[in-house]
Amino acid sequence: MADRNQLVKAVTSYADDFLNGLPGRKAYEASGYGAEEADAALVPEESGTDIHALLEFLGQRVDGPGLNPASGGHLGYIPGGGLPAAALGDYLAAVTNRYAGVFFAGPGAVRMENAMVHWAGGLVGYEKGFGGSLASGGSMANLTAIATARNAMGIKGRQLEQSVVYSSQQAHHSVPKALRLTGLGECVLRQVPLDDRFRMDPAALRQQVQADKEAGLHPFLVVANAGSTDTGAVDPLGSIADIAAEQGLWLHVDAAYGGFFLLTGHGRRIMQGIHRADSVVLDPHKGLFLPYGTGMVLVKDINHLLRANRYEANYMQDAREQSLEHSPAELSPELSKHFRGLRMWLPLKLHGLAPFRACLEEKLWLARYFRLRAQAMGFETGPDPELSVTYFRFVPHGGDADAFNQTLLQGVQRDGRIFLSSTVLNGKFVLRFAALAFRTHRHEVEVLLDVLRSLLKAQGMEIQERAPTA
Ligand SMILES: *Cc1c(COP(=O)(O)O)cnc(C)c1O
Repeated sequence: MADRNQLVKAVTSYADDFLNGLPGRKAYEASGYGAEEADAALVPEESGTDIHALLEFLGQRVDGPGLNPASGGHLGYIPGGGLPAAALGDYLAAVTNRYAGVFFAGPGAVRMENAMVHWAGGLVGYEKGFGGSLASGGSMANLTAIATARNAMGIKGRQLEQSVVYSSQQAHHSVPKALRLTGLGECVLRQVPLDDRFRMDPAALRQQVQADKEAGLHPFLVVANAGSTDTGAVDPLGSIADIAAEQGLWLHVDAAYGGFFLLTGHGRRIMQGIHRADSVVLDPHKGLFLPYGTGMVLVKDINHLLRANRYEANYMQDAREQSLEHSPAELSPELSKHFRGLRMWLPLKLHGLAPFRACLEEKLWLARYFRLRAQAMGFETGPDPELSVTYFRFVPHGGDADAFNQTLLQGVQRDGRIFLSSTVLNGKFVLRFAALAFRTHRHEVEVLLDVLRSLLKAQGMEIQERAPTA
């Protein structure tokens, strides 16, 4: 007991120091990987080690080097969260080790997870008869959705080479990965052309599907984006749903990044039609600011999810007979699983939804604000952002613009207060600004603008900053 209190004290004091120290910490720390010999400390030994020594190791070797996702300065890729209340939920889930796989074993835990799924399904606009589960992330959720689509559409091995899947160049790489893992990599994979804002062109989709049918192929699945990772593009979901209905395709919407913007009025407008998707993926560890390890898959007709995932095993017979609710184990590929519902339920109930909405609204504004300020500084920018990702590049007079922006990115990472990542759009190297960390506020945007300003000056660029124009 005394020992346990000491342990808890040491750990919470480490966590407090970490959180209190965040404002002074970098978003990216390039150094500190250290010498390999120090990693001997990673290997378990016969006798135990003092907690303080272990925490010191953690601080230096794990929580120091690399990207700091807890930082408000994390504006790269799609930032994750890490709400402290979610960590406390995890602590309790691990201490009690409630089993959330099967209703019979953990009725309260399963009800909690199902309630999270039902709440998110309501947000998407699903009504009765849908189902889903909490996965470890968007990639596993996409995999579950695509396996379910294959099963529901009855795609047999011998038909693979005639079956057609439609997505776009903006699809997250977890989509082709899931296609490969489900055996669908052998299908005909079509990349539907995009409009000038990187959104799928519905007319081109319809044309391609018709042409494929005329050629004797079997179109069965279209994967659309509600917030692409690269540019934040939201495909025209309503028009794509029309085509899916008319052509008999399964519509999967990858809303891993964008989905929880449905908590905002803007998000609901831009994602109109999402409720018509046969399956949707959301990432609570992105848009709900939870720690890594929480994705979600929703399927409009729960029976498809059940058919793809239900199992029969003799040793599970007791569980089968006492089920009042569906269990995550029959709705997902997992059996013994992390009780993810608690890390989601606790912060949502504790804080209420209002601060989540406000935080998401703020991220939408930050992306718009950054774009205008970057424009005023002379950067070439993308269009008015649809969500909270926007891209930009500096085009110097003469010289290689790609190389120039690469140098700029290295400069930002070397400074380390802000972390940005890059991508390639239409063959051009561009920098990305992605606001989704709950600790990102206007202050971080100003720091980024300062960093960019001094890097441009150091490169000998003359900047005449205009007042931003809306
Ligand atoms: C992040 C992301 C994924 C993958 O999700 P993980 O949680 O990283 O596995 C899939 N699709 C989109 C659009 C994403 O932004």
